[in-house]
Amino acid sequence: MSKVTIIGAGPAGNYTAYLLAKSGNDVSVYEEHSTIGEPWACTGVITEDVMARNVKLPEDVIVNRIRKARITAPDGNSVEVSLKNNIVVDRAKLDQHLAEMAKKEGAKYYVSHRFMAIEGNADRVTARIRNKNINKETSEESDWLIGCDGPRSETAKQAGIFGDRKFYVGLQATAKIENDNIIDFYPSEKGIAWKVPENSKTVRAGIAAEQNARSYFNEFMTTTLGKDYEQKIIGHQAGPIPLYNPKLKTQKGIVLLVGDAATMVKAPTLGGINQSIIAATAAAEAKTLEREAWQGLMAIPYDEKNNEQIHRQRLQQTRQHIRQRKKQENT
Ligand SMILES: Cc1cc2nc3c(=O)[nH]c(=O)nc-3n(C[C@H](O)[C@H](O)[C@H](O)COP(=O)(O)OP(=O)(O)OC[C@H]3O[C@@H](n4cnc5c(N)ncnc54)[C@H](O)[C@@H]3O)c2cc1C
Repeated sequence: MSKVTIIGAGPAGNYTAYLLAKSGNDVSVYEEHSTIGEPWACTGVITEDVMARNVKLPEDVIVNRIRKARITAPDGNSVEVSLKNNIVVDRAKLDQHLAEMAKKEGAKYYVSHRFMAIEGNADRVTARIRNKNINKETSEESDWLIGCDGPRSETAKQAGIFGDRKFYVGLQATAKIENDNIIDFYPSEKGIAWKVPENSKTVRAGIAAEQNARSYFNEFMTTTLGKDYEQKIIGHQAGPIPLYNPKLKTQKGIVLLVGDAATMVKAPTLGGINQSIIAATAAAEAKTLEREAWQGLMAIPYDEKNNEQIHRQRLQQTRQHIRQRKKQENT
């Protein structure tokens, strides 16, 4: 059994915690916010069957089911495509559900606890954690430190593997607007924009752009929701979205990165929820197998189907390699 410290209680952290606690490790999760899943900045669109391979979601996490997307080019031409099983999830409830799964397996959770620094990175790793309730810092020693702390990962910075990252700025609003239950997607040179129905009267509308995000957002909202769009808004969400960088290191010694912390998002839509779940599975398997297995497992390409195929292939190769080595050691 290893002692594992996980930073961040998003999808990556919670699912990694669930898997590692289930396989008998002593897992502690530190989350800087006081409520898991809050505040959220996400549209929550995922392919249900990709999630279902790992986690069966309860119905109250699912906000909407959508069967069509309309892709509109900058010149106004559009094409409609069928979607097999896309769902829109309540992000706060999703994160809370995954955390409950982990807690049931024995993972310990500490909210309002911010990871500050790594103090040692030899055989054991010491993480400096601030309890925000009492403004006091403690040192937590463990066998593994897993950074699931999102795009601006302090774990990655502290381990010296933050590397060269680029970000999109994601700006979104929940707005009262009647709709035909179709996902609208607007790719352009400025970035991408979307309108995703929560129900027949409410949408999540937003943009992601590398530059000039605010003016792009205002322009998009005016064009799609009308000049009076601000009066239709019932909530704002915003957050950075990392651009996937396959050259980044996702491991240094006994420090691993999972999910957005390792820039694991899809290139076409910038979605990262299912990718975090897949990456968590790889992290848990790599940790269970051996330390050095990790790096080989983590090169995740854009396409989800390929992700899984390549992931399985790498896993098989790694297992084979370890079996052979153990055999050699025993003879
Ligand atoms: C506007 C927007 C829309 C999006 N829409 C979609 C979508 O439709 N579909 C999709 O699949 N993806 C979407 N994404 C991306 C998706 O939100 C991320 O890929 C996903 O949240 C990654 O999960 P994660 O667990 O890796 O990181 P996060 O969800 O970012 O979780 C990281 C956690 O770590 C905590 N944390 C950070 N630093 C520290 C620290 N120092 N100490 C302790 N805790 C810390 C944070 O509070 C947070 O809870 C969207 C993103 C944005 C910004």
